[in-house]
Parts: sequence; C-alpha cells; structure tokens
Amino acid sequence: AIPANSPTIKPINEGTIHRISAGQVILDLPSAVKELVENSLDAGATSIEIALKDYGEEWFQVIDNGCGISPDNFKVLALKHHTSKLANFPDLQNLTTFGFRGEALSSLCSLGNLTVETRTKNESVATHLTFGHSGLLTAERKTARQIGTTITVKKLFSNLPVRSKEFSRNIRKEYGKLISLLNAYALIAKGVRLVCTNTTGKNVKSVVLKTQGSGSLKDNIITVFGMNTFSCLEPLSISISDSCKVDGFLSKPGQGSGRNLGDRQYLYVNGRPVDMPKVSKLLNELYKGANSRQYPITIMNFTVPTEACDVNVTPDKRKIFLSDENSMLHALREGLLHIYSPNNACYSVNKVE
Ligand code: ADP
Ligand code: MG
Repeated sequence: AIPANSPTIKPINEGTIHRISAGQVILDLPSAVKELVENSLDAGATSIEIALKDYGEEWFQVIDNGCGISPDNFKVLALKHHTSKLANFPDLQNLTTFGFRGEALSSLCSLGNLTVETRTKNESVATHLTFGHSGLLTAERKTARQIGTTITVKKLFSNLPVRSKEFSRNIRKEYGKLISLLNAYALIAKGVRLVCTNTTGKNVKSVVLKTQGSGSLKDNIITVFGMNTFSCLEPLSISISDSCKVDGFLSKPGQGSGRNLGDRQYLYVNGRPVDMPKVSKLLNELYKGANSRQYPITIMNFTVPTEACDVNVTPDKRKIFLSDENSMLHALREGLLHIYSPNNACYSVNKVE
C-alpha cells in the first residue's frame, strides 16, 4: 500500500542489524563449519577435529591444536569486525589467511550459542568462555585442555525462526554439503590431519572423514577418494603467465568417474576453496568433447599473486574476482584442449578400451 505520508527514516537498532548481517555470513551448516575450520587453519593447526551432534542440528564443534587465543583477546574475540588478521584496507591486497573480516565468531554468536575453550603455549591451564548473542563475553572459568582451541556452537539458527525450520528440515542435505566441503579442505591442506565425527541420538559416534595429514596433494587424493579414483586422474600443470599457474589433477579423457555434473570438482585459488563457474563450465564442455558418457573429476589450484585477486566479493567468500580472468580462461582452454584433444596419445590409448 502507498503510505499516506512519507514515512520517517530511522536507523535500525544494532541487535537487529547484527542478526540481519550474521544471516548473510552464515548461510547454512557448511558455511558455519567452514568458518571454524578456516580459523583453525589460520591458527596453524596440524590436527582439526569436527564433531557433530545429530548431523550438526543439535551442536557442532571444531577442536584444533593451533596457537590458541591469548587472554588479552577474550573480551573482543566475538565482537563484530574484530580480527587479528587485518588492520588496514591495503592489507586486503596481501591476504594470506582465510579470515580477515572478523565476522564469523560474531555471526555465530548472533545465530546460536557459542562457547570457546582455549589455551596458548604461555598458559598452564585453559579457559572456558561463554558468549551472548551480541558477542559479549558473559562467563569465564578455568578448565583443562592441551594447547589449542575448541569452539562449540549449539542450536544454530535458533534465533532466526524461518531459517531454523529450514535447517531442521534440510539437515541431511546440509550435512552432505558439509562433508563435500570438508573434502575440499582435506584435499588441499598439506600436513593437516582432519577428522569428522557424527554422534546420533543414542550416542553412537561414527567417523565420517579421516585423513592423515599427508604432505602432498596426490597422497591427500588417495586418502580422500581412494586409489581407484586416483588412478583415473592425471596431473595437470599449466603456466598461465609469468606469475600465474594452475596445478592439480583431472580425469583422464576416457576415465571420467564423476557420478554427475559437478561431482568431485574442487577448485581453489591460492589454496582457498572457491566457486569458479566459468572454469567449471569450460572444463565440463571440453571434457564432453572427449567423453560424452562421463563427467570429469578435478582438483585444480590456481596460484595467482595475492594482489590480483579479491576474495571480499560475497559474505561467504566463495566468490572471487581475478584481474585478467579472461586471459586466464584462455590459457586454461589451450591447456585443456591439449589434454583432451583426440590427437593426444593419452586419449587414443583410452579410446580403445
Ligand atoms: P577472522 O577470522 O576474520 O579474523 P573470526 O570471527 O573468524 O574473524 O575470528 C576472530 C578472531 O578470533 C581471529 O582473528 C583470531 O584471532 C581468533 N580465533 C578464532 N578462532 C581461532 C582459533 N581456532 N584459534 C586461534 N584463534 C582463533
Ligand atoms: Mg575467521
């Protein structure tokens, strides 16, 4: 309806703003857990355990052996836009960490119940911290723990009624997406042991993902997908320019084993899992030319100068802008065409099978 008088413009109150923006950073279970896993990786952890209760619906927890959080930081830990990783705008050009906006913990506080247990090498005992929905520290006590950090989120989205219902309804689907996302980190993280467990109703705990923290992409692929899948892949290494290259593995022309389009296609920029729709499209098109019956699996990491990419495009940081994306796509096309060209010896060998 058209208002009779022009309505007064007023500021939205802070708590409401917080809840609105938190719901954009944390979209679902995978994006919530992703933020915690990235924090553990940023903290230099070599062992990360993701524990879920009822597929994450009841609670989820990320336990790491990283550097821990120093007591000076307890009060500001979950405040919006408080971070140890970025101080000035120019720093955005040289990001080497997954996080940089100081929004994850503050958003998780707003959307669920957040507690933290942490200890650095300078403390002999750990501290258990409880945070309120606004991100303020509400309780603090001593507890026993090794060096590192455990972050627990109970009842995600209990604060957003519609999302909360959707969350319960879609929990198995979100859980499936989460496992695929954890695979993305398990594949690319070198020297990091990843374990994911799920505890269901009657306290039955099962291990759903477990990696050894090997030192190479090849070993990680074998651990995550198995030797059979690995043997259907071939290494890929394409130089795009003096400062850009792409490395990884992809399905041999005759041995695509993706079950459906997009199955096990993992793309990274400087080790950060990202969505690159144009790259996926190119890969799938070219692969189709060589093999119309199957889909390709791929694990591809683009190395680009940090100043040539902007990860601050969407709140969940999955989308990125690359300067000179077109010439990158062009070089990638040339490289893939070479691999998937019918004249390629590799293709001919597989064609007769
Ligand atoms: P960001 O990662 O963008 O800095 P977060 O809200 O994810 O923002 O985290 C806020 C800060 O809390 C981080 O900058 C870091 O200093 C600290 N932190 C969060 N998780 C951990 C962890 N697992 N280990 C050590 N420090 C952590
Ligand atoms: Mg973070």
